[in-house]
Amino acid sequence: MRTAIYPGSFDPVTNGHLDIVQRAAKLFDRVIVAVAHNENKKPLFTPAERHELVRQCVRHLPNVSTDCFNDLLVDYVERKGGDAIIRGLRAVSDFEFEFQLALMNRKLNDRLETIFMMPKDTYTFLSSSIVKEIARLGGNVDCFVPEPVQQALARKISTPAL
Ligand code: ADP
Repeated sequence: MRTAIYPGSFDPVTNGHLDIVQRAAKLFDRVIVAVAHNENKKPLFTPAERHELVRQCVRHLPNVSTDCFNDLLVDYVERKGGDAIIRGLRAVSDFEFEFQLALMNRKLNDRLETIFMMPKDTYTFLSSSIVKEIARLGGNVDCFVPEPVQQALARKISTPAL
């Protein structure tokens, strides 16, 4: 039983993230999409909201589950019995940070492999930050995020204090 963990902020989850989840689900017996608290990134959505949106968007995939974590990634992966960490690579600009993170995680736990996956080319320009910026300025994000996220963004932006 091979388990992969796909960690991220998912603030909010986009079609690019979901493309990676689907690809990983074909390669591994079990995939856990793990929402990191990451409060230092000043997320728009709370960890519970981000987790709930991810849950709604992957529930049709039988070998994919979701979770939230707040500890060191390698400790979390070990605790869950994970074999690999999935990360997405969109462009060369992602590479430097992701490479550093993967090597640091290997230093911390040599047993875990990081697997980089590329999304469909039409998602390589897509990021949660861009989606939030477009939504904040009144643009249409329907082709970038699934329906539950479209609704959550509309609610959050019309009542920003929530
Ligand atoms: P983090 O704060 O951990 O970078 P993100 O939610 O921004 O969390 O991203 C989680 C992972 O998904 C990262 O590896 C990131 O490179 C990848 N990712 C983000 N957007 C996309 C996308 N459009 N296509 C493929 N991978 C993506």
